[in-house]
Amino acid sequence: MCTQILIVEDEPAVADAIAYTLRQEGYEVSTAEDGAAALARLAAAAPDLVILDILLPGCSGFDVCREIRRSSKVPVIMLTARGDEIDRIVGFELGADDYVTKPFSMRELVARVRACLRRAGSEEAATPQLLRSDDLELDLSRCRVTLRGQWIRLNRREFDILWFLMSRQGQVVTREEILDAVWGPERYCDPRNVDVHIRTLRQRIEENPGFPRRILTEYGVGYRFVG
Ligand code: CA
Repeated sequence: MCTQILIVEDEPAVADAIAYTLRQEGYEVSTAEDGAAALARLAAAAPDLVILDILLPGCSGFDVCREIRRSSKVPVIMLTARGDEIDRIVGFELGADDYVTKPFSMRELVARVRACLRRAGSEEAATPQLLRSDDLELDLSRCRVTLRGQWIRLNRREFDILWFLMSRQGQVVTREEILDAVWGPERYCDPRNVDVHIRTLRQRIEENPGFPRRILTEYGVGYRFVG
């Protein structure tokens, strides 16, 4: 039985990016674009977790959360554009389990989803925390990368990009997909930023960064990580 996640978000680009990432992680995903649709879905099929945006048409995510709590204990992660304390307190008082502030990286969201499901006791044992390719190891739970047992210092963006590439080993990923996953679907940044970070990553993990063997360039498309 697959873990089911309901995404409640009215902006298709954001909902699609989250859905895509969670499906890649092995979750079953459904979406709702407003509170009424969310409550209908919740009643029809009990999901294991709800990702709930605060800014929705009609009623706010707060109202939806309050309504969910009338009948369900399903874990709720709120998405908020406003990171201020009031929102957090109100969110938790309404019964939300966690929140993520936009813009967020997909790695961050996946980590929150896993933690939330683990606390709720519905996380499947199969979800990998450790990604390995040859002598390169990425430990998601400890945010650590090692090459031949040696710790590699990466900044957050570099770590997130490497996680995204390694979790899709062998697949071609576009710059847009990397931007969505790492900078967040609501980011404003140039796709060439990705190239700059890839260059740094190659210097850290490739024996010969000029002739990379792990992170390959797919000309005109993006990149592909090979094991
Ligand atoms: Ca929204």
